[in-house]
Amino acid sequence: MEHLYAPWRSAYFTQDIQGCVFCHITKATKEDDELGVLFRDSHCFGVMNRYPYTPGHFMVIPYTHSDSIETLEPQVWEQMSRHVRDGVRMLKEVLHVKGVNIGMNLGVCAGAGIAEHVHYHLVPRWQRDTNFITTIANTRVMGVPFEDIYEKLKAKAPEYFQINL
Ligand SMILES: [Zn+2]
Repeated sequence: MEHLYAPWRSAYFTQDIQGCVFCHITKATKEDDELGVLFRDSHCFGVMNRYPYTPGHFMVIPYTHSDSIETLEPQVWEQMSRHVRDGVRMLKEVLHVKGVNIGMNLGVCAGAGIAEHVHYHLVPRWQRDTNFITTIANTRVMGVPFEDIYEKLKAKAPEYFQINL
């Protein structure tokens, strides 16, 4: 899947991050804006997806570097689940999405891009968001600048994600 439009100035896109990108974000607490971080809680954080499937696509990711959800501590999993639900509500109310795909690709064979560190996807959907060019060229045209969506979601995030630090 190629993207024609990705005007993102963040370090997330331009830096050559060594090692696990999600562990990098975990540690880079002073680069939240550059990295597209939406919130940080005690066990997990929310961050915009580097290669969004649709505008507003973000992820909920545990601080724990693990390739398996079954080894995550129960409180980590519970907090992630709660924030996925919070995120769905935010996408519906702030971006007025008509649907949301949520899910995880566990393992490379399941389609995970970064299989070594589990992450929950929230993918906003609108009517007919799979358009002609997607169908013919396996390419998506992003109609809305990522920066604008990030700024909008980040501004609203404190209203939706109850943080327990
Ligand atoms: Zn990691």
